[in-house]
Amino acid sequence: MKKALAIAGLVLLVLVAVLLVRTALARSYQITAPPVTDISIDARAAAERLAGALRFPTISHEEGGVERAAFLGLHEHLARSFPLVHARLTREVVAGYSLLYTWKGRNPNAAPILLLSHQDVVPVEPGTERAWTRPPFSGAIADAFIWGRGALDDKAGVLGILEAVEHLLGGGFQPERTVLLAFGHDEEVSGVNGAKNLAALLRQRGAKPDFILDEGGAIAEGMIDGIAAPVALVGTAEKGYVSVDLVAREEGGHSSMPPRHTAIGRLATAIHALEENQMPARIEGAAKKSFEYLAPEMPFGPRLFLSNLWLFAPLARHRFSDDPAANARIRTTTAATIMNAGVKENVLPHEARAVVNFRILPGDSVADVLEHVRSEAGPGIRVSGRETAAEPSAESDVEAPAFRLIQTTIVQVFPGTLVSPNLLSGATDTKHYKDLSPNVYRFLPARIRREDLVRVHGTNERIGVETYAGLVRFYVQLVRNAAG
Ligand SMILES: [Zn+2]
Repeated sequence: MKKALAIAGLVLLVLVAVLLVRTALARSYQITAPPVTDISIDARAAAERLAGALRFPTISHEEGGVERAAFLGLHEHLARSFPLVHARLTREVVAGYSLLYTWKGRNPNAAPILLLSHQDVVPVEPGTERAWTRPPFSGAIADAFIWGRGALDDKAGVLGILEAVEHLLGGGFQPERTVLLAFGHDEEVSGVNGAKNLAALLRQRGAKPDFILDEGGAIAEGMIDGIAAPVALVGTAEKGYVSVDLVAREEGGHSSMPPRHTAIGRLATAIHALEENQMPARIEGAAKKSFEYLAPEMPFGPRLFLSNLWLFAPLARHRFSDDPAANARIRTTTAATIMNAGVKENVLPHEARAVVNFRILPGDSVADVLEHVRSEAGPGIRVSGRETAAEPSAESDVEAPAFRLIQTTIVQVFPGTLVSPNLLSGATDTKHYKDLSPNVYRFLPARIRREDLVRVHGTNERIGVETYAGLVRFYVQLVRNAAG
């Protein structure tokens, strides 16, 4: 007995020692670089140009239509606002409204870089218009913010990139490598016309970008527990997407003599089963990388925990599962979003329908999700995946020079900011470009706080005037670093 206790004590001691050593050795992945101070942006004038763009309601609709006049108006606004860009770069209109700008580099043998953003915005949810402090398409500048739908997602990207190129042209900058700018017009409805055709054109021309940078992550302020510094979250992978239709059919008839389970009851049981038995959690890939990057910057407790996931993974999976944001990073998520059945209180419905939306963790696939749904929903429920499905992305390398270049640019322009790779739970246009380059990163250099997250696609979307100027400086420095 004594001996057993002694052995157990020794094991515990060794374990604690290993944990402490691993925690102490967790090296920081942060780099240092002297800040750049020579990029002077007229923040007010740049804000006016972004505000002007927000006044065009460039909404893309599910059914495939776009607001034609709004897009043409935006294009004119861009041409007026950025005369040097439109004089010196080649501009092509693709699929009616998407824009491709080519800024030819001096060295035709150097691989180009490709900067992406999208011109379209989501509509304003009917009934919420009056909740906006400034009308959603007013492009108001007030209280040090630029207000309007698209201010963050994603006209800040389109205008910010053009603003940076205009600035560089004004200073006589000539890129060494070609700089490609591609602005889709239907990202919010999966990019099936815009990004898809832009990518096809580039593919046909044999473009092999050194790296691709799109929207996605941002500079998160006060959003990561235990870290006071702002953290630039650079998306190195993005989750897949599939919406699944579930249909239960029954005889129908009078509700006075119902079967044991109606179509509604059977469908509800299936959805309940899907919520109770979700796809398994895994801490791996980009999410695991982000923990590795962030752990050394945290106080002792969380650093110990995240530096020793080899031991704490089961506990971590359990803890993360209770927090929607953390849960989204470690598993394929399940969200029932639509349900329809019944027309009258005393009539048994023939049919009950539901849609469940899944965001697929890299490592799982669309087929895995469908198989999971079929097995959980049980017999008698018809299951089919929708065509808008997309597989999860590949993971871009954090050791690649392109990642280091983006990291350096962040540190140069936003001193004191930490950088971390990240798994994106949303979808971007990058899915259409994935075969063009292995180095795909998703990052909009805008500082955001937790409260800003609900503004994107929600009410009172806005970006700070100074935040926007910082964003422009980032793109200026990025192009100087990549093509100088
Ligand atoms: Zn977007």
